[in-house]
Amino acid sequence: GRAWHLASRPVGRPRPEDFALRELPVAEPADGEVTVRNLHLSVDPYMRGRMSDVKSYVAPYAVDAPMDGGAVGEVIASRAPDRPEGTLVVHHLGWREYATLPARHTTVIPADAGGDPSGGNDISPSAHLGVLGMPGLTAWAGLLEVGGLRPGDAVFVSGAAGAVGGLVGRIARLKGASRVVGSAGTPEKIRLLTEEYGFDAAFDYHDGPIRDRLREAAPEGIDLYFDNVGGEHLEAAIGALRVHGRAVICGMISQYNATEPPAAPRNLAQVIGKRLRLEGMLVNDHNASRPRFLEEMTGWLRSGEIDNRETVVHGIDNAARAFLDLLDGGNTGKMIVTLDS
Ligand code: NDP
Repeated sequence: GRAWHLASRPVGRPRPEDFALRELPVAEPADGEVTVRNLHLSVDPYMRGRMSDVKSYVAPYAVDAPMDGGAVGEVIASRAPDRPEGTLVVHHLGWREYATLPARHTTVIPADAGGDPSGGNDISPSAHLGVLGMPGLTAWAGLLEVGGLRPGDAVFVSGAAGAVGGLVGRIARLKGASRVVGSAGTPEKIRLLTEEYGFDAAFDYHDGPIRDRLREAAPEGIDLYFDNVGGEHLEAAIGALRVHGRAVICGMISQYNATEPPAAPRNLAQVIGKRLRLEGMLVNDHNASRPRFLEEMTGWLRSGEIDNRETVVHGIDNAARAFLDLLDGGNTGKMIVTLDS
């Protein structure tokens, strides 16, 4: 099989030459292990951080080694009785065609939620990399557990057409937010937010200044900001937050390729006068909530209140390109790489 390796550490914006698709031998499964043929690979913004040699909550990728990440695949060889051949699993050895790993490091996809190998169900297995997976849990737990969304809150979310942001807005709507406002990077994404996702207002952040666009979209201010972007977005949100407002600091994608420290938010001191709560979050802290999250989100998927938005790129050869496109906003909803057999 083939696997994407980190060929060199990107400086600033990653280039295609920073990645290399190389042969990786497929190991036979030892006792307790399975070999998985990957069907869908996840590319995610946090991977940009792992490409740099900085200390963080996840270890950096090693140069000239295969990268890893979320994946969905089918067990094709098994020495684990509870993962027979044909089982569909979620696991962490993505960026490659085949993976051999301990069965206990895989999660079986429930048959009624995309895990029926004959495809006899209405949920795509790839949903476990998006709406039912890590981004879904991030949105749900970030908004409800960290942000403490209350009915009547006016909510602003950046990166609103992406995997996490698109769910934050729709969950806020379902949970009784009084106003849901979003920002994203193209006119098509803005239309999606207002015409399909039920946002009350949305703006393209290229039509800045963001502070002015946000004031038009939320003239009475906001109670809760879900930050996927950082920088000027966070500065504008601090300006728009009402007294005792809260901000969930989930991501700062505007800075992931930066080589200089950001100038904004220049108004961070308002946090004090307004007694704001800006709280960082990590999805890994919320694993205990996964069953409740899955139950609620699966219900919304089944009822059609939330749908599984994906941008699908085909073929292992295009995985690095898909990651670069993700950083450039080429995705709507979850960016997925599907490996066609
Ligand atoms: P998305 O699906 O939202 O993809 C990334 C999006 O970021 C792009 O589609 C692009 O959309 C947008 N973007 C890129 N550059 C900029 C920029 N300079 N300014 C504004 N927007 C930009 O990714 P995810 O939903 O997976 O992740 C969203 C955020 O959540 C990321 O910051 C990520 O790191 C974070 N995250 C944090 C987790 C945690 O545990 N704390 C867990 C999971 C994700 P556009 O066209 O709108 O520019």
